[in-house]
Amino acid sequence: MALITKAVKGTQDTLPTVSYKNQFVEETMMRIAHNFGFHEIRTPVFEHTELFQRGVGDTTDVVQKEMYTFEDKGGRSITLRPEGTAGAVRAFLEHGLFNEAMPQKVSYLTSCYRYEKPQAGRLREFHQFGVECFGAAAPGADAELIGLAQSIFDALEIEDLSLEINSIGCPTCRKQYHAALKAYFKVRETELCDTCRERLEKNPMRILDCKSPVCSAIAADAPVVLDYLCDECRTHFDAVQAHLDAMMIPYSINPRIVRGLDYYTRTVFEFVSDSIGAQGTVCGGGRYDGLVEELGGPHTPSLGFALGIERLLLVMHSQGIEFPEPDPCTLYIATMGERAAREASSIAQSLRGEDYRVECDICDRSLKAQMKYAGKLGARFTLVLGDDEIDKGVYALKNMKTGTSTQIAADDFIEEFMETADLDTETHLREMFGLGGDN
Ligand code: ATP
Ligand code: MG
Repeated sequence: MALITKAVKGTQDTLPTVSYKNQFVEETMMRIAHNFGFHEIRTPVFEHTELFQRGVGDTTDVVQKEMYTFEDKGGRSITLRPEGTAGAVRAFLEHGLFNEAMPQKVSYLTSCYRYEKPQAGRLREFHQFGVECFGAAAPGADAELIGLAQSIFDALEIEDLSLEINSIGCPTCRKQYHAALKAYFKVRETELCDTCRERLEKNPMRILDCKSPVCSAIAADAPVVLDYLCDECRTHFDAVQAHLDAMMIPYSINPRIVRGLDYYTRTVFEFVSDSIGAQGTVCGGGRYDGLVEELGGPHTPSLGFALGIERLLLVMHSQGIEFPEPDPCTLYIATMGERAAREASSIAQSLRGEDYRVECDICDRSLKAQMKYAGKLGARFTLVLGDDEIDKGVYALKNMKTGTSTQIAADDFIEEFMETADLDTETHLREMFGLGGDN
């Protein structure tokens, strides 16, 4: 076999043997977000490049090194979204959602694109679950957001994630802090990487997030922003912690978290795992009180987080978490001859319409091969149809677990099958969850 090409570096396929796991975590996330009042928003996979330059920040790694940017046939500069927030804010503004009752809470599941060095937990196409809450300044909003992420991890029974929080202040406290950082890095300017030397004047906080070993070693002793918070930011941060305490959500303060995107203010947080190697941050987020204004809208204090699906699945695998297996095939209809095949098509069509999982032979295989396939599918019931059964008008439904067969008149088959299958499902659930009888 000579493949003409393979999947592009840094991308991956999710096969049916795995995709049920993605579906399970994604459905759990959307359901819990819904409980918190976050409802789905869908935005395009590509946007005008300037949205990300302004929204993510043009001194960030994402914008400087990682974006998939190209010119379309109309000469526009287009970028595949590297993250979900900028697009959500654009949609919030474009559709005038700021005129609606605040807060506006949205959630999304999206693919993201970043030109990074692929490794475990770092892909060029990856997927995020994210939420954004627009128009909420109170510390309770920060705690609610963190509470949502925590509830998701609890529901998925993930244990080895720790929550780290920090406050990176507002433009007022940042003035002083920037000055302190500049003074600190200036002394060792020549040792910094080229990108960070450029960042020194424009945005010295970005140096704290540089992945180069030399820069991060220097950054390790840099002044921390917590020491420079203004009174209002300090009070806000204290109140966020008081809420988390009240919600019994454990956390630690990590004054070194700055996050990789420029728009953050005040609270920033990460959920980190130490069981999946260097790419340990599964979820990151925080407050971005200035972003909506930055993108041309009214002053709208807001916040959000994004959670990497692939990294989350790595953590779940490393913890040996079991995923609910998809329901097996309920009925397999094996057939001999064309009349039987037509009858099988008819029964399958009716039962599938009633929401039963039914399969029949579509490969013209021998009866033996069909039954082997039914076994592979894990069919709970089988039915063998040939001219004989059709002439007699009596079908034998076999329960594959107990081995018992039940004779059913052809005319009653659909109805009787549904009753039998439902009863079997109930028994199965009762056995699994130890549910009581009718009492
Ligand atoms: P990192 O420091 O690991 O590069 P980041 O700060 O760039 O992460 P965010 O922009 O905050 O990450 O994205 C939120 C989440 O998306 C991350 O915590 C991670 O789970 C996931 N993520 C980010 N980049 C990638 C990637 N290249 N491949 C897979 N998942 C990613
Ligand atoms: Mg990154």
